[in-house]
Amino acid sequence: MNVAKLDHRLNIYNFKNANIVAVSKTFPISHILPLINHGHQHFGENKVQEAQEKWTSIKNDFPNLKLHLIGKLQTNKVKFALPLFDYIHSLDSKKLADKIAAQVKENNLHPKLFIQVNIGKEKQKSGVDENNLDEFYDYCMSLNLNILGLMCIPPFNEKSTEYFKKMSELNRKYNFKELSMGMSSDYMNAIDYGSTYIRIGTEIFGKRT
Ligand SMILES: *Cc1c(COP(=O)(O)O)cnc(C)c1O
Repeated sequence: MNVAKLDHRLNIYNFKNANIVAVSKTFPISHILPLINHGHQHFGENKVQEAQEKWTSIKNDFPNLKLHLIGKLQTNKVKFALPLFDYIHSLDSKKLADKIAAQVKENNLHPKLFIQVNIGKEKQKSGVDENNLDEFYDYCMSLNLNILGLMCIPPFNEKSTEYFKKMSELNRKYNFKELSMGMSSDYMNAIDYGSTYIRIGTEIFGKRT
């Protein structure tokens, strides 16, 4: 499926509030360029270095492009990530929040942030535990960070519905306007639960090798 088709499908269902982040990780820029030329604006990558190599020059050519970091951000990469990424979906620790806040001050940058929630309480996944969310939210507010909403990656191979439902309740609790959830296999479901940023790779670009 390509983005034109996806746009069309989303419009049919009148889900215009959902922004499609086309997740282009692992694909070369030549594979991505048709979508950029189609006018698509939001693209997602999960690694800072790969994104630097692929996007630095193309972002200069297409100033309207918005780049989203959807993967883990190591604190020592923050200084490279912030000038490139407009959105960071993986804010998951106080240490990272500190680093971002310091860079924001120093370089007058305005990253839009999502707090990643480990909604399935999985050991191997990052994200803030639901029980620590109040404290983490207050901490981010004290740093004046621009938090748009929450983000999650639900447990693989499970029905996402119960997690999406929980996420939408949490998002409402903090009065966030945006919510980042839903991937190729479950984005329609995510939109039903109020997602405003769906992160779609495979459905747009094909299978990754
Ligand atoms: C790779 C990735 C996606 C896209 O996954 P698809 O199943 O290919 O749509 C979405 N979100 C995150 C965090 C990812 O790492």
